[in-house]
Amino acid sequence: MQADIDQVLIDRQAIARRVDELARQIVADLEPDLSRGEADLTLVPILTGSIIFVADLIRHMPLRMRISVMSITSYPGKATSSRGASVEAALTRLPESLAGHHVLLIDDILDSGNTLRLARQIVTERQPDSFRTCVLLRKKRDAAMATPCDYVAFDIPDQFVVGYGLDFDDLYRNLPEICTLRQEVAAGATENGRC
Ligand code: 5GP
Ligand code: MG
Repeated sequence: MQADIDQVLIDRQAIARRVDELARQIVADLEPDLSRGEADLTLVPILTGSIIFVADLIRHMPLRMRISVMSITSYPGKATSSRGASVEAALTRLPESLAGHHVLLIDDILDSGNTLRLARQIVTERQPDSFRTCVLLRKKRDAAMATPCDYVAFDIPDQFVVGYGLDFDDLYRNLPEICTLRQEVAAGATENGRC
């Protein structure tokens, strides 16, 4: 697995520091909403890429919370560019109504913005008391920078990355760092006609 890595963009210490810092900021912002009334906090992680980020983030968030996952796919298999976002309905566990919930939506990376837009639509249709969005990474490209997002852990160059939950063909999610893949590894997909 390590042999397929080109560069480490963000190492594990930098991730840990920033996740802790971001969690504190989110908690400080949410606390006034939560103390105001009866509404609960519901986290909506987008599967599968956000799992490691969410696992680390919530352990720095000492708040009463529910977790309701949602599955949205846009980079199927060996694709390294978006194929348009679509929801796997069977894996949407959101309650019919989100009235009485403050929602924090969490994704791994903001790229074209399609995933966040679709997720925003699905959640806001259910009328939560408040709605915030958080991503681990945002690519420095116009479409991503123009997509509203409340919390961004890191802005990165417009490159395809893996690790810390992010995959290529469902591999590399368990890398503790955020990395780029060697050209030959990512290019292999094109030769197979799968990219
Ligand atoms: P968007 O819908 O904003 O184009 O892309 C968001 C989704 O595409 C992410 O949740 C992620 O699954 C996938 N994605 C976008 N860029 C990358 C990337 O650089 N690496 C990986 N592994 N997935 C990406
Ligand atoms: Mg994803």
